[in-house]
Amino acid sequence: MDNKGSRKNKRSETGRKRAFAVFALILVCCLCLAAVKYREGRDMAADDTGKQQNASVGAGPAVSGGEIGDTASPDAEHLPEYDGRRYVTVNGSVPDFPDEVIEKASLVKNGDRYKTEGSLPGRVDPSGLTPYEYYGSLDELGRCTCAYGCLGEETMPEKGQERGDISSIHPSGWAKAQNWERCHLIAWALSAENDNPENLITGTHYLNYEGMRPFEEEVGHYIWNTGNHVLYMVKPWFSGDELVARGVQMTARSVEDNGAGVSFNVYCFNVTPNASVDYMTGIVTTEEQAQQEPRLYVVNKRSKVFHYPSCEGAQSISPHNREEVTATRVELTSRGYTPCGYCEP
Ligand SMILES: [Zn+2]
Repeated sequence: MDNKGSRKNKRSETGRKRAFAVFALILVCCLCLAAVKYREGRDMAADDTGKQQNASVGAGPAVSGGEIGDTASPDAEHLPEYDGRRYVTVNGSVPDFPDEVIEKASLVKNGDRYKTEGSLPGRVDPSGLTPYEYYGSLDELGRCTCAYGCLGEETMPEKGQERGDISSIHPSGWAKAQNWERCHLIAWALSAENDNPENLITGTHYLNYEGMRPFEEEVGHYIWNTGNHVLYMVKPWFSGDELVARGVQMTARSVEDNGAGVSFNVYCFNVTPNASVDYMTGIVTTEEQAQQEPRLYVVNKRSKVFHYPSCEGAQSISPHNREEVTATRVELTSRGYTPCGYCEP
């Protein structure tokens, strides 16, 4: 009886152990599944790309108003107008590169696909690829023209490498105290280019972070995750002789997988919502400044800079060049005066 009882107890104990093991297994499976879902969710959030927004309109968590735009063809005469969207697609977002961009990477065009010399049709042999960066010369007005390359781990910063100082560069249209940012055409994280004047434009925070950053991150994540390469081209678009770009066209296509991983062609706006930009002088006028009543300013007739009367800069102007005027900020800027970089009137 005792034996039987203990056997029975043993059996039921084994049964309990088994039941517990099954329960534990199910629990572990659930946790794994939850972890995978969580990671997927996080990756989606981090990978806030145009493509994903394409698939699910309005899904961009980090940006607002980012639904996909209509097709636009950049043309200096007819650049797309900002209408609240941080970018619009170009050519249906299908990348299109000039021949030299492809050739410098040692790639051969093979229909709408690429291959390296001697490879099977459509196949890209990474060892036959040439990772590179190219920066176009400044034009006669000192403006950036274009930057492109075949980007990969080779062109990226070394692990632990820190970004250097770029404050010495004053890109075309740079105006003090207007909250301008030096905006890399090819991001530092992709190119390790610091203070290359051929790679820095005068850009708004909005262009830098809402416009370009999500696309740069998409390319960066793709390269880190796959070790593959991306044909990449960034071109600032200027209207006429203006010194500040109206926008930036970004084109990218992953190489080894023929665009399956990364493929976009977009135009991002160099704007600040609720402010107007003078693309010739770089002067930015907020809505509040635009509605300002006339007030007293001190102007330097020679340097064409205007100050608040309390500014040290205003007090050191020689009497010959100094003038006190009652005007609005907009009146002064439209007369060719620039706000002082210190008192920021
Ligand atoms: Zn001042």
